[in-house]
Amino acid sequence: MANLFEIHGLKSEIEGKEILKGFSLSIQGGQVHAIMGPNGTGKSTLASSIMGHPKYEVTGGEVYLEGEDVLEMDVDERARAGLFLAMQYPSEITGVTNADFLRSAINARRGEGSEISLIKFVRLMESKMRELEMNPEFMHRYLNEGFSGGEKKRNEILQMMMLEPKLAILDEIDSGLDIDALKIVAAGVNAMRHTERSFLIITHYQRLLNYIKPDFVHVMMQGRIVKSGGPELAERLEAEGYDWVKEELGIVDETVSQA
Ligand code: ADP
Ligand code: MG
Repeated sequence: MANLFEIHGLKSEIEGKEILKGFSLSIQGGQVHAIMGPNGTGKSTLASSIMGHPKYEVTGGEVYLEGEDVLEMDVDERARAGLFLAMQYPSEITGVTNADFLRSAINARRGEGSEISLIKFVRLMESKMRELEMNPEFMHRYLNEGFSGGEKKRNEILQMMMLEPKLAILDEIDSGLDIDALKIVAAGVNAMRHTERSFLIITHYQRLLNYIKPDFVHVMMQGRIVKSGGPELAERLEAEGYDWVKEELGIVDETVSQA
């Protein structure tokens, strides 16, 4: 079976400092992969580099979505091709309502001539907001402005549900969520699981993975995957922390900080 998403030897720099140091991963359609790792190991840099964030300079490697060369695409094209990132720290945008933002994003993804009608859009947004137990007023609030941490995270998942990406990358979507909100968000993600959609779930803690069952778990250190396994790996990390991985692999400093 062909891979839905592939990364080979990805290297990426920020302000001249190399963060990703040869990151490789293949994901088949329908699979959920979790990336776990301590802070400062390059997880968010991976997400931003895949999406084409201008601050990150990719200096090597290859990225393919359904065989298409992602690194050749500009940022808009990547979203249109079906890549989505739920950000660890979503930005606030004054003057643009949540509904305006999402409608533009959906229409950009659909392309000219296939725009969603206003009435269909409103119905879709209302139904997804109900699923996520979001207050309807969030439709007309400015994007993320004054949202609590948990509200921002729910709003990221709302975007994902409406944009129906092929690969959804969720960067620490669990941070700032209490257990009830976590269950709602996980149910939203699980409802999106599909043989032709894949997920890359970045998380610090195993807790989220109790609700979204991953097929594979990878540990990231020093800007690359250092260990892979199944859900049992996440359980061991939860119980024992990351030190045993470092000892096993002879890693002293797991971060990407270079002396
Ligand atoms: P993680 O998400 O695993 O915590 P990040 O990818 O956010 O790790 O960061 C990895 C390293 O890259 C950090 O040590 C940080 O110093 C550096 N870094 C990330 N973003 C920036 C930035 N915008 N400017 C400078 N350094 C950055
Ligand atoms: Mg991060």
